[in-house]
Amino acid sequence: MVDLIAQYEQIKDRIDKAIIDVVRSSAYINGPEVKAFQTELEEYLGIKHVIPCANGTDALQIAMMALGLEPGDEVITASFTYVATAEVIALLKLKPVVVDVDPNTFNIDINALEKAITPKTKAIVPVHLFGQCADMEQILDIAKKHGLFVIEDNAQAIGADYSFKGGGIVKSGTMGDFGTTSFFPSKNLGCYGDGGALFTDDDDLALKARQIANHGQSKRYYHDRVGVNSRLDSIQAAILRIKLRALDKYAEARNKAANYYDEAFQNESALTIPSRSAQSTHVFHQYTLKTSNIDRFGMQSYLAEQEIPSMVYYPVALHMQKAYQDPRYKEGDFPITETLCESVISLPIHTELTKEQQDHIIYHVKKYINQ
Ligand SMILES: *Cc1c(COP(=O)(O)O)cnc(C)c1O
Repeated sequence: MVDLIAQYEQIKDRIDKAIIDVVRSSAYINGPEVKAFQTELEEYLGIKHVIPCANGTDALQIAMMALGLEPGDEVITASFTYVATAEVIALLKLKPVVVDVDPNTFNIDINALEKAITPKTKAIVPVHLFGQCADMEQILDIAKKHGLFVIEDNAQAIGADYSFKGGGIVKSGTMGDFGTTSFFPSKNLGCYGDGGALFTDDDDLALKARQIANHGQSKRYYHDRVGVNSRLDSIQAAILRIKLRALDKYAEARNKAANYYDEAFQNESALTIPSRSAQSTHVFHQYTLKTSNIDRFGMQSYLAEQEIPSMVYYPVALHMQKAYQDPRYKEGDFPITETLCESVISLPIHTELTKEQQDHIIYHVKKYINQ
């Protein structure tokens, strides 16, 4: 699905040197590379505070802890997402409330969101799925109206630009009380292991998040609150500094590949190409097609025989997962999500995808659906 080796080959000299420099410095944890990456990401995003941590799931958890959410508080998120979002809500004994998504953008449905709000609702966690922002302008309005926190799960959309109708363009992840992201290797800004970060413009929340990520310490051996141990290590930060400089170029390469797929598939009645939101650019973490009237798993096996990887993100809706069974929810409650789970398929997309590779993929996708 991604070709991390081909990408590494392009930046090998700088990466190798950066890694060796960290090893020679012995500043493996909280070294100058972490601080430098933090500052550079703050500049790139146009945000006051970036708090690096160990992974994207921790980032979500630390955000919820810093906001002071308490057991029983309801947190609304989308039913069509990666499990991490709901997992930390459940771990903190908060109550996950899931709502359906928009059939075109796959992002949280605004009408469903507003209907799900109760007096116990404390926060909304929109997920910017597959690389484009949820409808943040409306989400922020709803949050303001009801006094709710917003945590943007930005693990799939780092680098996307969001345009407000009245003017103003900002980076995804910088609009809520917190934005969170993951630097898992296959993410758009990925390191060579695990990593994550939180973003916020609020000084007080930034301080809390920083303390929580570091055992709740205000200063060394003084613990003001219960925290966790969640750090980005210096080698990963050094790698991320190099890749951050290429992030916009990477997004361009992904868009070029997406446009090429779009052109090839737009007239195929069995396929619906990904829709583009009017207010957000797309960074194509995934290129996800909706299929109709074809055997999707049959297509996957056929493609696999041609050595073409494909993935189904996601085959099971949150409310249908064994771990998240809840008497409040049953099959049929979130029809859009359930249909998507049965019909979507993602094709390889990455920064080094060549036209020849795409032609090969396109040829076999078309051959399968038109057989
Ligand atoms: C990858 C991902 C996460 C979790 O990130 P990790 O670094 O793997 O913990 C959270 N939310 C979404 C939407 C993701 O895609």
